[in-house]
Amino acid sequence: VTAELIDGRKIADALKEAVAAEITTLRAGHRRCGLATVLVGDDYGSRAYARRVARVAAELDVHCESVELPGDASRGEALAAVERLNADPAVSGVLVLRPLPPHLSEVELFGALAPEKDIESVHPVNAGLLAQGIPRFVPSTAASVFHLLDSWLDEAGEDRARFYHRSLIVVVGRSNNVGKPAISLAHDRQAAVTSVDEWASTEGRLGRYTRQADVLVVAAGVAGLITEEHVRPGAVVVDVGINPVRDAAGRVHLVGDVDLDQARRRARAITPVPGGVGPITDVWLVRNAVRAAASQEEGPR
Ligand code: NAD
Repeated sequence: VTAELIDGRKIADALKEAVAAEITTLRAGHRRCGLATVLVGDDYGSRAYARRVARVAAELDVHCESVELPGDASRGEALAAVERLNADPAVSGVLVLRPLPPHLSEVELFGALAPEKDIESVHPVNAGLLAQGIPRFVPSTAASVFHLLDSWLDEAGEDRARFYHRSLIVVVGRSNNVGKPAISLAHDRQAAVTSVDEWASTEGRLGRYTRQADVLVVAAGVAGLITEEHVRPGAVVVDVGINPVRDAAGRVHLVGDVDLDQARRRARAITPVPGGVGPITDVWLVRNAVRAAASQEEGPR
């Protein structure tokens, strides 16, 4: 059996059309919408992400400011950048890219974001709303995982509720910005949920958990972590990982956390990297900035 490849780009294109329609409605009401990314330092993945977001924003004709600070920027400089964006009426949504350099506190910087502009729900108030199942903004990566699954189910003619209610979703990776939000969204769909992180791998028990998964969501940031032996026959595998690897000629390629060729032998359906979750994430972020603009005009929640 060879698994179906789920085409994230096609799903992203459909989402982009829907967001374009929302932007048209927003503009008809003479409302402003814009987003800003804040990159501190020069992390490869973060820079690539900021570039992709800027490209999608340009395609949708949404104002996008890319703020870049040097890796040795002080706490005061980083906070000042966030505060300036909080106060800028041309910016409805702000994304502070991770990882931050070790001398800066994520908790402090995320806590300084205006909650109504915090389109990744990293401010403690927004993270709390998300955990309670009443998100102000659904963070882009986890949202994309479930938008992709929902879209695939619709395309396959399967009833979403029935599918989720009968499924065990295993999420590998438990970061605040990907794994934990994905767990919250799986709970919201009333699925059974298992959360696994690196300690399961260290203890040699990763496969024991992942082999139970009807839906396996992998967001560990470890190239090739998931092989054939980790996949239950007939599972749906969603690979969130984006890992730069250098080939023999010195060129950098992006690969996922799942060994696609191996996992395909067992899975029912699987997402490629690139071309799976990533393209949807970029559009979702712009969507959140558009929604932020709409709700800001209506006043604070
Ligand atoms: P992170 O480093 O903050 O968190 C990784 C998590 O995985 C941690 O909980 C860690 O315990 C766990 N983990 C690490 N090694 C493991 C192992 N061997 N076995 C099991 N669990 C392990 O990373 P993150 O920000 O959550 O991102 C995860 C991956 O997703 C990265 O590759 C990142 O580039 C990618 N990412 C993709 C998108 C997208 O749009 N597709 C968006 C954001 C992040």
